[in-house]
Amino acid sequence: MLVACLVFAGVRAASVYLHELSHSAVALLYRLQPQIHLRLGGSSCTTVPGAAAAGSGAVAVIRHSGWVFSLLLAIAATYACTSVAMVAALWLTALDAISSDALGWTPRSHRVRVCCNAIPLTWEL
Ligand SMILES: [Zn+2]
Repeated sequence: MLVACLVFAGVRAASVYLHELSHSAVALLYRLQPQIHLRLGGSSCTTVPGAAAAGSGAVAVIRHSGWVFSLLLAIAATYACTSVAMVAALWLTALDAISSDALGWTPRSHRVRVCCNAIPLTWEL
């Protein structure tokens, strides 16, 4: 049980980081300079200064890249991985990403929600 909890926590932290990296990688394609802010036990985020100047299409692509990446990662792990803890952590990150990146739900507390896109140029996890 302890091992499963450690796996869950480790994969959860790694998937949050990868989620933020996906936002950043796409922002770099637009020649922007994203900044990732990781907070263990809290909300992590990616900020992209100047994204608005790149256009609303760029902002949308950068924002949606996060949930698409996390969802694809969770789907792949579901078929390729035998660890329930690992798959559960990836799906938790994917669901958090969908609720914020795709649906735009604003978290009440950044300690609870993984990703917040209420501010167009800031993606928090
Ligand atoms: Zn995100």
